[in-house]
Amino acid sequence: MKLSWEPITLDLRTTFRVAHGASDQRHNVLVYLDDGVGEAAAVPYYGETQEGIIEYLKSVPDLGDDLFDMDAILDKRPAGSRAARSAIDEALHDLWGKKLNQPLYKLFGLNPQNIPLTSFTIGMDEPHVMAEQAKASGHPILKIKLGGEEDEARVKAIRGATNSKLRVDANAGWSRERALQIIPRLAEYDLEFIEQPLAVDDVDGYFWLKKKLLAQKVHVPIFADETAKTSHDVAKLAGAIDGVVVKTMKSEGIREMMRMIHTARAHDMRIMLSCMVESSVGVTAAAHLAPLCDYADLDGPLLIKNDPYRGVTYDGAKMLLPSSAGIGVERIKSS
Ligand code: MG
Repeated sequence: MKLSWEPITLDLRTTFRVAHGASDQRHNVLVYLDDGVGEAAAVPYYGETQEGIIEYLKSVPDLGDDLFDMDAILDKRPAGSRAARSAIDEALHDLWGKKLNQPLYKLFGLNPQNIPLTSFTIGMDEPHVMAEQAKASGHPILKIKLGGEEDEARVKAIRGATNSKLRVDANAGWSRERALQIIPRLAEYDLEFIEQPLAVDDVDGYFWLKKKLLAQKVHVPIFADETAKTSHDVAKLAGAIDGVVVKTMKSEGIREMMRMIHTARAHDMRIMLSCMVESSVGVTAAAHLAPLCDYADLDGPLLIKNDPYRGVTYDGAKMLLPSSAGIGVERIKSS
C-alpha cells in the first residue's frame, strides 16, 4: 500500500475560542493509503502541528499489502503523532470498505438511522455575543465552550435566549475548587451534561468531584473528554464519571475508538461521539460509529468554509451518512 499526504488549510466561519486559545484557521493533513483517505487534525493544544504530522508520516515504514490484517498494519505505525496515527487508521478503513464495496456502517452492522442529532458549538466569547449566536443558530442542541471568569453569566445569557438543549464543555479550564463552586450553580440552568471540568491529568479529581457533588445532591452528569483518550483511560475513570467523549484524534483511529465505546458501555457510561476542527473526511469517518453512541457533537464541517470533500450531510441537527463504499467521501472539484 502506498502512503501519501496532502496538507490542507481550513478557514473557519467564525473565530473559534476555547479555554486554550483562539483560531481562524486550522492546518490539517489528508493522508492517503492507495485510494483510501483519512485526516490528521493539527490541534494546537494537543501539541500537533501540520509540520510535525508530515515529519511523522515521512517516518512510517512500508505498511505491507494485506489490508485485511488490520492490527498488523496498525502496529507498524511508529509511536508519535496521534493525529497522523488516526489518519492512517481512517485511510485503512476507507480502503477496506472500498475493496469490499460497502460503506463502513454496513461492515460494522450498524443502522445509519440510529445516529443521534448533533450539537452545534458556540465558542467562548462575551456572554451577550454567545447568547446572540445561540439564538441565531436555531439549533436544537448547543454545546457551549466555557473555561473563564464569566462562565455562569455565559450560561445564564444563553439559557435566557434559547430553549435549545444545552451542554457545556470546560475544556479542562477549571481547578477542582472552581469546578465544585460553579457546577452546582450551572446545574440550575437545565444542562444535559458538563464536559471535562478538570485538568487533563487529574483522574483522582473526578472521583473527588463525584463524591462532593453527590454529597450536595447535585446530579448534573459529568463527562470526560481530554482525560479519556483510550479504552484504558475509560476503565480508569469507571465509577467517577457518567459519560465519555470519544474522538478518532484521541484514540488514534476507528479501531481503538470502537474499543473505547465498548469499554464505556461495559461500565454503564454514556457516550458522545465528537471531533476536532476537521473537514468532512475525518468527521464522516467517525460518523460511521455514531449509531453506537448516545450523543453526537460532529459539527466540524459546519464550522469551516472550504471543505475539500463532501461526506456526511446535515438536515438541521440530523446527520445523513453517504452510502458509497468505505468512508464514502467525495472530493469537491474546484472550478
Ligand atoms: Mg470537549
